[in-house]
Amino acid sequence: MNAVTIDPEGWAAVGEALLPEAIKLRRAIHAEPELGLDLPKTTAKVKAALAGLPLEIREGPSTSGVVAILRGPANGRTVLLRGDMDALPLTEDTGLAFTSQHEGAMHACGHDTHVAMLAGAARALCERRDRLPGSVMFMFQPGEEGWHGARFMLEDGLLEDPTPDAAFALHISPNMPAGMFASRTGPLLASADEFEIKVIGKGGHAAMPHEAIDPVPIAAEIVLALQTLVSRKVPVSDPAVLTVGKIEAGTTDNVIPETATLLGTVRTLDERIRKLMHEGIERIATHVCAAHAATAEVEITWGFPVTVCDGRIVALAQATATSLFGEQAWRTMPQPMMGAEDFAYVLQKLPGAMAFLGAVPEGGDYHSCCGLHSNRMVLDERVMARGVAMHCAMAEAFLNGEAVV
Ligand SMILES: [Zn+2]
Ligand SMILES: [Zn+2]
Repeated sequence: MNAVTIDPEGWAAVGEALLPEAIKLRRAIHAEPELGLDLPKTTAKVKAALAGLPLEIREGPSTSGVVAILRGPANGRTVLLRGDMDALPLTEDTGLAFTSQHEGAMHACGHDTHVAMLAGAARALCERRDRLPGSVMFMFQPGEEGWHGARFMLEDGLLEDPTPDAAFALHISPNMPAGMFASRTGPLLASADEFEIKVIGKGGHAAMPHEAIDPVPIAAEIVLALQTLVSRKVPVSDPAVLTVGKIEAGTTDNVIPETATLLGTVRTLDERIRKLMHEGIERIATHVCAAHAATAEVEITWGFPVTVCDGRIVALAQATATSLFGEQAWRTMPQPMMGAEDFAYVLQKLPGAMAFLGAVPEGGDYHSCCGLHSNRMVLDERVMARGVAMHCAMAEAFLNGEAVV
């Protein structure tokens, strides 16, 4: 794609001009992080940032998410831009002046910057609404960190009327050069499901195991057998991860417990492999238990689906990023990552893409600096200027007819 209808000088300058405002909002949100689906303080800050703009504001019953619509001509396209708003349950240890005031909560995934960039883009696009031949839907969503906030907002019907024709989101990353964008066509992030296996044996005296059914060695056998799912059942060309992250059994050295519990995560990049893994977990747990006269209770909790990017929107993102900031500002990722993202629900409904935006702190090494979800994660806030510009330029280019979807 060559002739992308964007305005490189214009949007890059707009992003820079809005940077001080974005930094202020980001820091205010960073200082008061909130968890889950109900984020009253964060939502209030978003609404304050949007106050006075020509936007229709929508909220739903299930979450404190906010959708703001900039209406353009009815016969035009609609593009959805998304920013997630929630923090993580961990205690910050960055020493930043605007460090978290809420013990046990921190914006360690950079969602504070996502909100600030999206609010900046909303202001910039509203100020230039006359030149937009369509509508823009700004989706401020809570509950990304495992709470299914995007799914609830879809179910609440917040993302209809006008129906978006495409969707775009940014995710900040300290593990990439500052100001670089990256994405890929196809799977970008994995599905992530949780499984719990309860091995039910028979308790007894540790000196007389023959009179009990000891769930501990059975649990150990299940852990090992589960590893053969990835190595022996999944085609080597299809990435899959299965990790048992927690094992719990027993109380002391001389008692055989009645039960043992395993908790784990299973991740894939393909819905077919996802199903195969679920069936395999159930089969192995049930039959290993049966082999030892124990029983298994298996519970699989469906998490986020695979995040799949549409090649047309990825190509538009690449053309936009390189037009705005030069060839060095884009990297096509050779492989997906096995993290997960609930923007996947939006991308199941709409053609779209998520791109990462590099934000390694000044003087840091992006290979080794603290990554997302670390209690010491810090970012170069200045890249938010590029994020604002990217949101705006992507929206304008799409509304101008770029990327046939
Ligand atoms: Zn995260
Ligand atoms: Zn995140």
